[in-house]
Amino acid sequence: MIKFLDLKGINQQYREGLRLAFDRVLDSGWYILGNEVNLFEQQFAEYCGTKHAIGVANGLDALILIIRAYKELGVFKDNDEIIVPANTYIASILAISANDLIPVLVEPDIDTYNIDPKLIEAKITTRTKAILPVHLYGNLCDMKSINSIAEKYNLKVIEDCAQAHGATNDGKAAGNFGDAAGFSFYPGKNLGALGDAGAVTTNDTDLAVTIRALLNYGSEKKYHNQYKGINSRLDEVQAALLGVKLHTLNDETRIKREIANRYLLEIKNPKIKLPKIATQEQHVWHLFVVRTANREKLQQYLTEKGIQTVIHYPIPPHKQQAYKDWNDLRYPISEEIHREVLSIPLNFILTSEEVSYIIKTLNDYGKD
Ligand SMILES: *Cc1c(COP(=O)(O)O)cnc(C)c1O
Repeated sequence: MIKFLDLKGINQQYREGLRLAFDRVLDSGWYILGNEVNLFEQQFAEYCGTKHAIGVANGLDALILIIRAYKELGVFKDNDEIIVPANTYIASILAISANDLIPVLVEPDIDTYNIDPKLIEAKITTRTKAILPVHLYGNLCDMKSINSIAEKYNLKVIEDCAQAHGATNDGKAAGNFGDAAGFSFYPGKNLGALGDAGAVTTNDTDLAVTIRALLNYGSEKKYHNQYKGINSRLDEVQAALLGVKLHTLNDETRIKREIANRYLLEIKNPKIKLPKIATQEQHVWHLFVVRTANREKLQQYLTEKGIQTVIHYPIPPHKQQAYKDWNDLRYPISEEIHREVLSIPLNFILTSEEVSYIIKTLNDYGKD
């Protein structure tokens, strides 16, 4: 069986480094907000090209804290609206709701799966305060168009980079295109911890200072509480482990791009629609997502052939019970995507034989 994602196999590649990093933290006797978090924040800020990176507990908190900080700074208030793609992973939308702002859904482009900039302006009202683009599956959004709309209407741009660590366009990296960005280091993400972890990147020092306080009980100075904050700190252990993996993230991505290229060139089956990409650099292949009319049939066929697949995602946010007021709304492009998508294995430990087998199996689909 070719596993969809063999996390054990992936982390074994880093075994020595991870063990050394763990020992360093164990022996330091300092486990919360110390040298490891500082060091990782510096390295990650450098990686993204931003002035600040702030470690937090997970990717959802990264987005929640950005919006919360803008509220504390008087930029957003309750019931303001934030534009977000209708087909995103639900966390992007939850981060808006959690702050008592209103998510306004915009349909994606069927070929890129990312928010369609042409549809954004029609959804802007006097209450719109931000656009929250999501670089879904690792593919950078059209940030040029999004930023020019944001500029025209004086909106903040908050990138959801949970799936896009290291994607670049013209030398600029994900996390550095807007006013602030949220990253997740959930184990299965491009840069994955051995547990939960996340980060915010920004060039805005006021925002960074506010987030640093909010994530630590709302206190800039110990026992002096400026805000009603939360506890969303990045652990020293996770920071140390992430530092080890960050060094070789670009090598992993290079291998994934080579595999993705083979899929794009060699999968030739009219029943299977392949993702469209603008340039190599813009995609870091968190997921390789194909579309097909009869997804259950394709998935079952692949299972029988020993290839594990996953659906990202089976139910659109507007059809979730958590958002039952939206259940009758129609977002036909998102619904088509959710009906047809299937993610096939793509990670840096796949062998070239496995890749060839996956390609051949997909090309043989429906031939009988
Ligand atoms: C994973 C993910 C998140 C949330 O990250 P967690 O670390 O799991 O909280 C947010 N947005 C997107 C698009 C994601 O894929």
